Amino acid sequence: MKIKFSNFTPQENLISILPSIVAGILVLLATVVTSLLFFPPQNLLIKNFIIAFGIAGSLYLAFYYVIFNTSVNKSRFTWLNVIVSGATLSALTFFIPEELDHLLYTLVFIASLATSLTSTRLPAYSLILGFSIIYTSSRLGSELERYDWIIHASQITASLMVIETIQQLKKIAREQINKLEIINELSKQIVSTLDTKQVFTLLNAAFQNALDADSYFIGIVEGEEVRLELLYDDGEYFHDVKLPRRGTFSGWVIDHQRELFLPDLRQNIQLEGVEIVLVGQGKTSLSWVGVPMRGTYVDGLMAIAAYHPNAFDRGDVELLFTIAQRATLALDNAHHHAIAEEQGRLDSLTHVYNHGYFLRMLNKQAGECLANNQPLSLIMLDIDFFKQYNDTFGHLIGDEVLVSLCKTIRMHIKSTDAVGRWGGEEFVIFLPNTNGTQATQIAQRIRESLAAHKIQSNDHINLPIPTISMGIAVFPIETNETTKLIDLADNRLYIAKERGRDQIEPVAAFWENLETK
Ligand code: GH3
Ligand code: MG
Ligand code: MG
Repeated sequence: MKIKFSNFTPQENLISILPSIVAGILVLLATVVTSLLFFPPQNLLIKNFIIAFGIAGSLYLAFYYVIFNTSVNKSRFTWLNVIVSGATLSALTFFIPEELDHLLYTLVFIASLATSLTSTRLPAYSLILGFSIIYTSSRLGSELERYDWIIHASQITASLMVIETIQQLKKIAREQINKLEIINELSKQIVSTLDTKQVFTLLNAAFQNALDADSYFIGIVEGEEVRLELLYDDGEYFHDVKLPRRGTFSGWVIDHQRELFLPDLRQNIQLEGVEIVLVGQGKTSLSWVGVPMRGTYVDGLMAIAAYHPNAFDRGDVELLFTIAQRATLALDNAHHHAIAEEQGRLDSLTHVYNHGYFLRMLNKQAGECLANNQPLSLIMLDIDFFKQYNDTFGHLIGDEVLVSLCKTIRMHIKSTDAVGRWGGEEFVIFLPNTNGTQATQIAQRIRESLAAHKIQSNDHINLPIPTISMGIAVFPIETNETTKLIDLADNRLYIAKERGRDQIEPVAAFWENLETK
């Protein structure tokens, strides 16, 4: 997210130079009227020149305003105006008597104001310095007193000051606009993001562009600790950092659900039970701002810090608040989306993968195992005489058995393995990087574990637990197609059933022969 610095809009420029234009015209017209009424008649040439200058100047200013108003490319007029006003004011120094220097200075002052408002430093300074050089050379031979030169220097300094002040004000305004644009852009992008990682990337860009902080982080509550995401300090990012919740500024913000604005940490901070905890580079921050982030799923805070005092103002706190609000909303959305997606993958009763998702994962894992030259075992599992079990103990107890069975399976498999509900009371497990012998051992453990499981009726009477039958097949040694792998395991499950149930097909010895071939 790269935002360019925007300047005043043309409309703002027009409004801001209007007073200068009006003042310029008023001064020039006043000069015309004064010359007409009071100018000594013996100096007719100069009188006429001043009147002509006054009228021409007023017309120029009005004309300039109109051109500026209607022109598409306004920056083009900046230098044109500097040259025209500079040349005219400089020419005036040769014509008007020294007594009228004050008029000259007033016009120079107005010109600096208008030029600084509509352009950058260089044209504005060029106008004033150019004028000053020409003025000085034109007056060198004259009988100016020393204090006249002091007045000249002061007037020029005043003009330069007004240029600088306006440039500084424009800079502040530009920065504010820039910050608002960043927030706007962040808001637009963040609402359409459902990925937590992407949310953090967008937030990082917003922090970097909108805030002048040496460090920042987003803290998420995890029990008695605050896990720091996106911890940035002095040019570096840090991962897996946690803060205690108790006794920290962060904890205070979360507990009180209020912003904490600490402009100068050298001052005595009256927050009960809170002490400074250093994270990141371990340098002491002297300015700190934290704002809470609490949504449906998100609980935490967002904080910025700087190594020098008074680095942030109220505006920054407000900005951080706005960013935090947007971030909370986005993280909540992403979390909600992740939950919905997860639910779409899981079976609602047992919370193991549903048929469709299991198949997708199986195909993916089989591909990886093939590429890595590793085996993948598949176990197909079915509860024995479950219809009868339901009929005897009721469907609810049957459901409980299904849940217990899945818990038992999970206890015996690794995080890289997966279990899915194939249908009714039939489950399927894949075990990457596991051969037939190892899979048989795991199946055996599941069988024994389930048999040892206790299940009770509502009136606390121990109920028997059903047995299970399993069929195992191994990829790619037996088949390199996942559909055939499933069929093979299913056929073997059927064999186990046929042979009398509560057993695994094939028997362990089968794999010894196959795997030592
Ligand atoms: P077999 O040993 O041959 O597998 O016998 P079985 O009775 O288990 O086989 P069958 O496939 O005929 O019956 C499956 C039974 O599983 C039917 C149904 O009552 C039960 N079942 C399927 N899904 C659920 C479920 O979600 N909850 C409960 N409680 N029972 C279920
Ligand atoms: Mg069954
Ligand atoms: Mg069945």
